[in-house]
Amino acid sequence: MKIICIGRNYAAHAAELGNEIPENPVIFIKPDTAVLKKGADFYIPEFSQDVHYELEVVLKISKGGKYIQPENAAQYYQEIALGIDFTARDLQSQLKAKGLPWELAKGFDGSAVITEFFPKEDFDVKDLHFSLHRNKEMVQNGHTKQMIFSPEDIIAFVSKYFTLRVGDLIFTGTPEGVGKVYENDVLEAYLEQQKVLDLRIQ
Ligand code: MG
Repeated sequence: MKIICIGRNYAAHAAELGNEIPENPVIFIKPDTAVLKKGADFYIPEFSQDVHYELEVVLKISKGGKYIQPENAAQYYQEIALGIDFTARDLQSQLKAKGLPWELAKGFDGSAVITEFFPKEDFDVKDLHFSLHRNKEMVQNGHTKQMIFSPEDIIAFVSKYFTLRVGDLIFTGTPEGVGKVYENDVLEAYLEQQKVLDLRIQ
């Protein structure tokens, strides 16, 4: 199983980090060891003083494929979840400044938090509302209609380069409002009105 992540897929988030709006999806991969065990707390790693939450819609690939056309791409995922793409922002900034890959800042153990999955038919994926609350205060308020690249665009683009397999996950990018986590924080995520995540930071 691989975890494919999209960077800068919401214009307001690209702007808040001083990045340009990309012409093509920005792609990176987390290893499967990045997945935080269900129900576990998130531990801030010792190598970062600035770990950020990034709440994202996650797609689960349900059918293998390569060179998938955008008009067929919706058939390749049947379930969605929310996820947090934890990012060691200080380390990422150092790597970016040197033109180096981001993996250490993005792929460390526990950096991929994934909620339970839900059938996509239960939602309007093109107009989905999701939000993150830090210590009961809303910090991210996302709408998938603001995505630069839709799930179908992403699947079509990524599958030109990587064969998609059943069970692969795609993190589709975060809206604006990313920020630092602190010990003893509680993060709660909502998919539409439903609370789907309750995570303690250690
Ligand atoms: Mg992200």
